[in-house]
Amino acid sequence: MVHKKFAVKKIGVIERYQEFLPVTDNTPIISLNEGNTPLILAEALPVYLGLKNIKIYYKFEGLNPTGSFKDRGMTMAISKALEEKASAVICASTGNTSASAAAFASRCGLRCFVLIPEGKIAKGKLIQAYRYGAKVLMIPGNFDQALELVKRVTQDNRITLVNSINPYRIEGQKTAAFEIVDDLGDAPEYHAIPVGNAGNITAYWRGYKEYRRAGKCEVLPKMLGFQAEGAAPIVYGKPVEKPETIATAIRIGNPASWKGAVQARDESGGLIEAVTDPEISWAYRFIAEREGVFAEPASAAAVAGMIKLARRNYFEENTRIVITLTGSGLKDPDYALSFEDKIEAVEPTFEAVSKVVFASR
Ligand SMILES: *Cc1c(COP(=O)(O)O)cnc(C)c1O
Repeated sequence: MVHKKFAVKKIGVIERYQEFLPVTDNTPIISLNEGNTPLILAEALPVYLGLKNIKIYYKFEGLNPTGSFKDRGMTMAISKALEEKASAVICASTGNTSASAAAFASRCGLRCFVLIPEGKIAKGKLIQAYRYGAKVLMIPGNFDQALELVKRVTQDNRITLVNSINPYRIEGQKTAAFEIVDDLGDAPEYHAIPVGNAGNITAYWRGYKEYRRAGKCEVLPKMLGFQAEGAAPIVYGKPVEKPETIATAIRIGNPASWKGAVQARDESGGLIEAVTDPEISWAYRFIAEREGVFAEPASAAAVAGMIKLARRNYFEENTRIVITLTGSGLKDPDYALSFEDKIEAVEPTFEAVSKVVFASR
């Protein structure tokens, strides 16, 4: 028998969905085996909401190599940057883009610069960019200002911009929609997703449409986008000067893919609405404590939005809802620990421990 032990299967999104992506045989594929994330059936949420004939799934993107969906777009952006002989890449970031850019750049020896808003980036993400070896530049400003700066720095094309205005990012990110269809056998009727810079909702909608054109699905989902109330420019129809929310990954006042998001909403017959920080916080805890799925606050915005719609009886019976959980809960340890309820100091004795354990059984 032939020994298969070392025949490691390539499972990165470019190899898997090459025919749908702008790559050629000459594209050097820089991959960390991103994608192929699980679609987890919600158990507690439909019971809590009293939804009997509706199935809810979490597309858990926190299980990508750097802990967010950004890896899908970054494998494309970095591969193409290398193909086009870039010497360095740069991005503005609320955190996850910088973590992902730094990782993929390190894998192929590209220099990487990241601009992040000082004090408003979750610690796990900062550590990643730093540890993967990127040059981290902190600015006393917000994401929108950082993005304006990197756009100017890359104007003369000496350095490649890897924010989602880089068209290859959206191309890579659409593979998440492909995976959902491959897993479910068709697209779901509804797709809920947090909206920050709006690249991801744009990417999913493109992915679903392309897959239907290729005969891979019949259904096209209604796209349901959710912004945080303090950072909801698309909902209000105008940029937000000083965006604020606990969900730092969607703390964006002037989304780069604004048009793409509106198009996804309108073509799909969906909606884009705002959820409050307390609603996000509640959903964040619910999915961790009741479903065993630990996602970051921005991801929970989509859960909060879905809950809000369920309470208005928005969803039709006998349908499926997919909620994209965009990033891992481990990204933001400070927020995770900001609830005091669960840590209790006890004496190191059998009596003290058993008293607590048996009392709260
Ligand atoms: C980037 C990001 C978002 C927002 O995605 P956009 O494409 O900017 O709308 C949401 N959640 C997490 C965890 C992210 O990293």
